[in-house]
Amino acid sequence: MFEFTSIEQYHAQLQEGNVSCLQTVEHYLQRINATKHLNAFIEVYADEAIEKAKQLDEKRRDGHPIGKLHGVVIGLKDVICHKDHKISASSKILQNFTSIYSATAVERLLAEDAIIIGNLNCDEFAMGSTNENSVYGKVLNALDETRVPGGSSGGSAVAVQAGLCMVSLGSDTGGSVRQPGDFCGIIGLKPTYGRISRYGLIAYASSFDQIGIFGNTVADIALMLEVMAGADEYDSTVSHKKVPAYSLQLSTNKKFRFAYFEEALNHASIDPEISATIKKRMEGLQKDGHEVKAVQFELLDYIVPAYYVLTTAEASSNLSRFDGVKYGYRTPTSGVEPIAIGLTDFYKQSRSTGFGKEVKRRIMLGTFVLSAGYYDAYFTRAQKVRKILTEKIQLIFNDFDFILLPTSPVTAFKAGEKMGDPIAMYLADIYTVMANLVGIPAISLPLFKHSNGMPFGLQVMANRFNEVPLLQVSNLLLRSEAV
Ligand code: GLN
Repeated sequence: MFEFTSIEQYHAQLQEGNVSCLQTVEHYLQRINATKHLNAFIEVYADEAIEKAKQLDEKRRDGHPIGKLHGVVIGLKDVICHKDHKISASSKILQNFTSIYSATAVERLLAEDAIIIGNLNCDEFAMGSTNENSVYGKVLNALDETRVPGGSSGGSAVAVQAGLCMVSLGSDTGGSVRQPGDFCGIIGLKPTYGRISRYGLIAYASSFDQIGIFGNTVADIALMLEVMAGADEYDSTVSHKKVPAYSLQLSTNKKFRFAYFEEALNHASIDPEISATIKKRMEGLQKDGHEVKAVQFELLDYIVPAYYVLTTAEASSNLSRFDGVKYGYRTPTSGVEPIAIGLTDFYKQSRSTGFGKEVKRRIMLGTFVLSAGYYDAYFTRAQKVRKILTEKIQLIFNDFDFILLPTSPVTAFKAGEKMGDPIAMYLADIYTVMANLVGIPAISLPLFKHSNGMPFGLQVMANRFNEVPLLQVSNLLLRSEAV
């Protein structure tokens, strides 16, 4: 039976002729079929994946040079465009909409011979932390089906967790790759803002959004990043910095300098077992010769409010294009009642019916914080917090290589547990939103297991564009025995 450990190993097996792309795809299709109840996939491109696998097998056997992601089976979050395939951001307002172009990231994966096997469930417009805000229904955590997989990229996390594809793409605006990675026991990377093109990524909050990667090994994630990163004429916010060969620079025996925030580890909301385990791990790092020091961080309680003011403001603008006229769902203008009468009524009814509860809540919040009377009190102040935070973090990186934080204050929630209390759900983003406010890269590493049986991670952050050391230290942390 096919067993996936890493892309490198898979490629060795392909070259030795022990397995083919076709057998591999068939294996994944079977797995997906057997785990339908997890609800990770929205659509599976079975015929297309089989066809592509056959072509790749032929190409390889004919001795043609093979791509870096030859035959690698990948799933895409339902916010990433893939030409001629449906994309809906898990929203009724876009149901049955077909992409007319592919995201730059997807183009680059395909150019390296990747096989896209399907698109993955998520919270509507990437808004949420549980994957329960989806028009396709909730996704189950494969380790404990009574629990959520996290969100918003829940389907992408479960697809890797349950072995339904090798690696997957998500998007991370405030933790949507790292937090589900934490809840599912896999690696989740959010690169530096501007590392991977956002062209073809459905926007939630454009100055925060970044495509992220889920995988089982650092090497797989490094390879994916290497393929997707780099300048793109369709997205001016992407950096022109040269893309390092991340996958070739993963080993190190350097001694690093780690900063951590006592305020974070002693916060009232954190599960004491998570905090104690992380403290113990930091002692282990110190014993191994690394420097680990506490730095003062008095801004912790401001970052979630700043994040929700700024992202909802951006979302209210980004989502204004979904008005029933140009895309997707539109309210009927004739036939069965109720029908829209006039343009304003048409907009109102299309948006009221097309968007789900959480998206509407955020559009209203965003419109409110941008409204004339409240702009300075909310939006301008939140921007100031973002600026102060950015300066503070830069100062820390003058003296340290990395910042260590938990990824989430608690392990995976029970399904439904937080749905009645949006504020409690937002507050659980306390450790992930900082990286997006500042634009730095951050990774969640599946290092620990809670006494409740669920996994949890350690979050490591580095300075902007320092993905090379970030991936190196991730490798080191995942390999080291010290606890
Ligand atoms: N949980 C966060 C939110 O609901 C993160 C979302 C994201 O990163 N897309 O906004």
